[in-house]
Amino acid sequence: MKKLIIANWKMTPQTLKEAKALFSAIAKARGKVKNAQVVICPPFVYLQPLFSKFQVKLGSQDVFWEDAGSYTGEISVKMLKNLGVEYVIIGHSERRKIGETDEMVNKKIKQALINNFKVIFCVGEKERDEEGLHLQFIKDEIVKGLEKISVKLFKNLIVVYEPVWAISSSNRSGKAKFHSDTPEDAFQMVTYIKRVLVSNYGKQGRKIPVIYGGSVDPKNAPAFLKSGNVDGLLVGRVSWNAKEFGELLKNIGSAK
Ligand code: PGA
Repeated sequence: MKKLIIANWKMTPQTLKEAKALFSAIAKARGKVKNAQVVICPPFVYLQPLFSKFQVKLGSQDVFWEDAGSYTGEISVKMLKNLGVEYVIIGHSERRKIGETDEMVNKKIKQALINNFKVIFCVGEKERDEEGLHLQFIKDEIVKGLEKISVKLFKNLIVVYEPVWAISSSNRSGKAKFHSDTPEDAFQMVTYIKRVLVSNYGKQGRKIPVIYGGSVDPKNAPAFLKSGNVDGLLVGRVSWNAKEFGELLKNIGSAK
């Protein structure tokens, strides 16, 4: 099965010109990698111009749960559909940090799945502890995020294990800090998540792909795919740089 490689551009780049250049460079690099499905998730404002320009799978970084109406600043599923968007990231820790609750995440996932989007549902602990409380935390995030949604819709669900402490962060000077999980640790956590999915959602739960995110780079990407028990990767910072992301794709393509 092809590995799912999702580029999360977050709030970059700052101009459409840069976005187009980055997009076309990634589209070119992607063409050379047969064993990966690449999805690019740019900021909302670039979806339209990028969709009309290139034939690459597009995702958004969020969506609202209502169909239409008085919701200042929100974007509906229909608006995204009209732009050819197939994937949507929901529940990213950077959104949870500014107030998104499990309940909101649940409503967004439901709305997106009902409308046939592929949902990239992010879960992950803020910190690990000896007692294993972080395992319960992740299980709660999964169960609350998927509450009262028909398991039949889970055929379009992808779960991302993204330990919050492993996501690269930057300060105002633009200096980034990277601290990825190890593929071995990710293996344990992803296996745990897969077990939670099977025990809660049975046969349908077994089919849900689980991917890893958090400081993925060209060097560690093949190791996560090989030893991490993952079906793909969510890549933030490295996907903002055409050269580095191209290298990551190349390394995945040539990995045994
Ligand atoms: P990172 O971000 O690769 O920069 O750590 C991943 C993410 O937050 O999706």
